[in-house]
Amino acid sequence: MGELQSSIQYLPGMGPKRAALLQKELGIESLSDLIHLYPYRYIDRSSIYPIREISEESMVQIKAKVVSRSLYAKGGEVIDPGKGASEFRRASRLSVIVEDESARMEMVFFKAIKWNWERLSPGSEYIFFGKASQFNGRLNMVHPEVDKPQSNGPATGLVGVYPSTEALKSSGVTSKLMSRAVSTALALCLREVQETLPDYVLRDNGLVSKRKALFDIHFPKDNASLESARYRLKFEELFLLQLSLLKQKYVRSRGTKGFLMPRVGEDFNSCYKALPYSLTSAQQRVIKEIRADMMSGYQMNRLLQGDVGSGKTLVAVLCCLLAKGNGFQSCIMAPTEVLAHQHFTSVTKFLAPTHSRCALLTGSSNVAERREVLEGILDGSIDILIGTHALLEDNVVWKNLGLAIVDEQHRFGVEQRSKLWKKNTIAPHILVMTATPIPRTLAMTLYGDLDVSVIDELPPGRKPVKTICIDESRKGAMYKFIREQIASGRQAFVVYPLIFESEKLDIKNLEQGYEDIVAAFPLPDYKVAIVHGQQSNEQKSFNMEAFVAGRADILVSTTVIEVGVDVPNASVMVIMSAQRFGLSQLHQLRGRVGRGAEEAWCILVKDHKTSKEAQSRLSLMCSTQDGFELSEQDLRMRGPGDLEGTAQSGLPIKLSIASLSKDSALLSKARDYAGAILERDPDLSSEENSLLRRELSKAKFKIEDFSRIS
Ligand code: ADP
Ligand code: MG
Repeated sequence: MGELQSSIQYLPGMGPKRAALLQKELGIESLSDLIHLYPYRYIDRSSIYPIREISEESMVQIKAKVVSRSLYAKGGEVIDPGKGASEFRRASRLSVIVEDESARMEMVFFKAIKWNWERLSPGSEYIFFGKASQFNGRLNMVHPEVDKPQSNGPATGLVGVYPSTEALKSSGVTSKLMSRAVSTALALCLREVQETLPDYVLRDNGLVSKRKALFDIHFPKDNASLESARYRLKFEELFLLQLSLLKQKYVRSRGTKGFLMPRVGEDFNSCYKALPYSLTSAQQRVIKEIRADMMSGYQMNRLLQGDVGSGKTLVAVLCCLLAKGNGFQSCIMAPTEVLAHQHFTSVTKFLAPTHSRCALLTGSSNVAERREVLEGILDGSIDILIGTHALLEDNVVWKNLGLAIVDEQHRFGVEQRSKLWKKNTIAPHILVMTATPIPRTLAMTLYGDLDVSVIDELPPGRKPVKTICIDESRKGAMYKFIREQIASGRQAFVVYPLIFESEKLDIKNLEQGYEDIVAAFPLPDYKVAIVHGQQSNEQKSFNMEAFVAGRADILVSTTVIEVGVDVPNASVMVIMSAQRFGLSQLHQLRGRVGRGAEEAWCILVKDHKTSKEAQSRLSLMCSTQDGFELSEQDLRMRGPGDLEGTAQSGLPIKLSIASLSKDSALLSKARDYAGAILERDPDLSSEENSLLRRELSKAKFKIEDFSRIS
């Protein structure tokens, strides 16, 4: 026993240097890590192609005889190696002509020239494997893999290609070397690998054993065995994840009693009747879902997703009024002061026709205001309290908090949220609102332990924000357009990206940008405000307020404005170096304009560093306004299943084989199956589920890691 945890450095071809590099680059230390690193694609080496049938740019394997060899120096001069071994040093290219029965082609080597010259003797036959391409009208292969047909034989069947990085490649950790290391590792430790799924789960779902899957995923005999290995490993990954999430949800819903709120109440009705518009059907549906939770006797833990401008605030207010109708207080917590103020203003308007009273509490409330609010909260004369983190302070003592609403979840830590309800003996109902559209499959994974409601419809009459993408060189024309907008009384946002590597550089960038804008929009005709992360809260609020109140025409900022500020008078959103932003961020930023009745524009400014991939993001932004479609596409483009995508998408869990975008059908299946098991055995306490219990106790399934709600 114990091979699984031993170091990879003793594997053939490895050594301490390469082992250290593998750890640094891919986090692989032990044999166990190594055998759980799966090939990300496979090359078919079971067939040998006649040269005549090779198409360009394909990976192929041929069997051919060496006809002739030629050495060339840099300028193209032909070198005669017969003149002495030192001639090899002058050589920069070795060309080997080979032929089979069908045709001839060229093998080219730029490295290890002498060695290849010596091993490829004219008249002998070899197996060559590589990528065929056309060069100067001739079919060739550069640096093919070469094997002797008889010896150990060439690799046959499907050969895995392992994830790699530039650093690994340049220190000689090739896919071939990885494959050899994995082969040895499997021989050493496969028998120690334990089954992770109970027999009945394997049977129900037609899954092969863990050991067979692990072997076949690296060295599949054929397509069928590869498929069943893949299926088994993907299923296991998605199933255990869903099982763990659903189990939390079961525990919570059975364990946490909630306030019973069966009545609707007078204030709800008066607010509802006085609305100048009717609710969208999505808003109605969501309110019904929330109401059902509030009447269930269990604590609500619900995520409300709705695109920017979909009317979440109104939903929040109506829910607070439901709580009021049952004699409870509510709070709405916002991540910034500016947002808290905005909520307070709009909630106050909604409450006008009711008898409910709301109040505002933030870090900058003065002593007198604070005292009044705290008294009102304690004696119950305030029904709805709106504010920032200030709501979490110890001196905020509620008479009877029944509902806590948190706006924009990512800015609040889990701990902060749980603080809110630790003050109660019975937890209040919790509603988290987010404008970040999350595709269904991702929501199932990230928020598998929450109930999710979606407002998937905007109020009627919204005009789409006209979105265009321009090159930096056309900034002059853009400035002219912005001046026209300002002349007609509008305002503009100009956003610069945050470059994570260096905060100093960010500010420099932003300040440079600010200088440019101020130069193009000089005083006294124009007023430009600037907001960034390095400012104090007061500075930020001051500048933001100047823009909100219309005292500034342009707001230059980093992405601090991303979350929710409402400036209906702003008609232009300029995003500089737009290629640096992800799709959902671009979408959030664009959502800041087009909130009034006027037409609005979003101008994406790209510079010369725009990659092909970034360009396709920008084009997508220009072609659709639908946040859900954008986030689905985003997920697809970034591929959360691959190594890079995982890190970027901010997924709190790392999937090693399943893909949230490609395997959504399997995800649903795994989720249903997990749900059925929990239906029978909610604690997984039966003997047949002991393996599952063991798996879920592993660190990666600790729910705190990815639960975003208290
Ligand atoms: P968000 O979901 O981004 O928080 P808001 O709640 O700020 O959106 O709503 C955006 C605007 O839409 C507000 O001015 C609000 O009054 C308005 N609104 C909300 N619901 C409706 C509706 N059903 N019909 C028309 N306008 C609505
Ligand atoms: Mg909002």
